[in-house]
Amino acid sequence: MGDFMKNNFSVDTSSLQTKQSVECWWCRKVSTDPEALKTCTVCKVAKYCGRDCQRQEWKVHKLLHQELDHTRRLLKDNEDEEREREQSEAEEKEKVLQSLGKKP
Ligand SMILES: [Zn+2]
Ligand SMILES: [Zn+2]
Repeated sequence: MGDFMKNNFSVDTSSLQTKQSVECWWCRKVSTDPEALKTCTVCKVAKYCGRDCQRQEWKVHKLLHQELDHTRRLLKDNEDEEREREQSEAEEKEKVLQSLGKKP
């Protein structure tokens, strides 16, 4: 488990970017055919060479999903705030236009 965490967080990103091959997130077996690996249907990021590997990694992987959920919620909250502000600004403008129209 300790080794696994270490492996997982010291991923060599340069090799990930240059190679087309895909690595199983659990056993780190590299496959040159991305189609041969299973993809996590939830996050569509994690790859596994089989069901067993997916099940084994799930204990750690579900935490990643929680993290993704959290991030998504934060992004959504920001969007909502943005929309509310735009709306109140539009209402302000409307009020100003109305008061201008009421002037004699
Ligand atoms: Zn595997
Ligand atoms: Zn996933």
